[in-house]
Amino acid sequence: MTGEPAALPLLQMALRVEQDIFVIRQRGREVAAVVGLEHQDQVRIATALSEVARDLLQTTGGADVSFHIDAGADSRFHLRADLAPVTPLPDGRYQPQSGAVSRLVDTLSVSTVEGVTVVRMSRRVPASAPTPTPERLAEFRTELGRTVASSALDELTVQNGQLIAALDEVRSQRDELAETNRGVLALYNELTEELEETNRGVVALYAELDEKSAQLRAASESKSRFLANVSHELRAPVTAIIGLARLLTDSASDPLTDEQSRQVDLIRSSAADLLGLVNELLDLAKAESGRIEPELADVDLRSVFGQLRGTMRALATRPEVKLVVEEPTAPALLSSDEVLLGQVLRNLLHNGLKFTERGEVRLQARQHGDRWNFEVSDTGPGIAPELHDRIFEEFYQVPGATRVGGTGLGLPYARRLVTLLGGTLELSSESGRGSTFTVSLPTGGA
Ligand code: ADP
Repeated sequence: MTGEPAALPLLQMALRVEQDIFVIRQRGREVAAVVGLEHQDQVRIATALSEVARDLLQTTGGADVSFHIDAGADSRFHLRADLAPVTPLPDGRYQPQSGAVSRLVDTLSVSTVEGVTVVRMSRRVPASAPTPTPERLAEFRTELGRTVASSALDELTVQNGQLIAALDEVRSQRDELAETNRGVLALYNELTEELEETNRGVVALYAELDEKSAQLRAASESKSRFLANVSHELRAPVTAIIGLARLLTDSASDPLTDEQSRQVDLIRSSAADLLGLVNELLDLAKAESGRIEPELADVDLRSVFGQLRGTMRALATRPEVKLVVEEPTAPALLSSDEVLLGQVLRNLLHNGLKFTERGEVRLQARQHGDRWNFEVSDTGPGIAPELHDRIFEEFYQVPGATRVGGTGLGLPYARRLVTLLGGTLELSSESGRGSTFTVSLPTGGA
């Protein structure tokens, strides 16, 4: 289809005098309308034509103007206007007076066609316009031939009309913009309100949270107080029971029958268990209520470990279980509370010995940067990972095989103490694979 529809111009006219500019403008618009350019584009190409025509009239004394339809490389049609100057362009070049002209059309260039230099402009015909078949082009030509060029005054009237229409459009665009602005403002206000609402909600939630945590703190304090009081009150009578039972079985007392002495022993061992529980409760309550204040001093781990080796040996009663307290590498010094640290390690070793049936229970200390890590590991039954948090809860004991006496208060107490010492107590263990409790303390103290 290239070239073929363009063979014959749609319209030809001459630019020689000032008045021709108006006519070219008017006819240019008509051609644009006939080939299907939209209203805005008709005005644009007409304006560009009149500007270029004015320039050429001044510089070359006129031009021959022709309009064509081309099929472009984009398989769309283009309206093309060629203005062939009657005398050569100065330097063979053309530069519009107004820079805006080139923006009114798709292309504006100087081309040489068969030895003739022309100023050429084009504008794309919308896809919605009817395809310019040769028949349609013939119709266009007839239609354009029918319309007669009117006077400059008529063209001025038309131009005025276009100007008013353009102004109207600008005004309606401005109104539209104002409308949009109002919309945006309303949306903004709405969002701000919503944000404030959310903020108020969050503030209320925080207040409620504060209140709840205060209640929780109060509840925890009364629990500690209750435990401390009860255990304190219980200690005296339980100690008395143990003393009395001992008296009853004393050789200086009246002899008891075998059954009686068995029962008195039972009373005594039950009371001793009770006293153990009461003491542990009291310890925990003290630690929780902040009444334990660590006394920091230089601690020589080798001496602590030496003492532990001695005291724990008495508890390591199973021949199948070896207790190993490794000698810490010298110098093994840290700033901590020796009594509390001893209590924690004793507690962990005691558990290890209590729950391990064969293998070993081992204590070792290693320094890592500014921390000392104490590892108490055993080859006992291990603890399933999902219970690792629970065993640090008060009174929790793993159900089943590992339930051998005890109160379930040892680990929560140990963790409390370690926290007071500025450290952490962690567990790594799996069922059937032994357990390793790690106490990590800052070398410089809490
Ligand atoms: P207690 O030893 O008095 O029962 P703890 O608080 O010291 O209380 O321990 C809680 C529970 O954690 C124990 O009852 C036991 O089920 C489990 N546990 C603690 N240490 C070990 C260990 N070394 N190996 C296996 N289970 C353990």
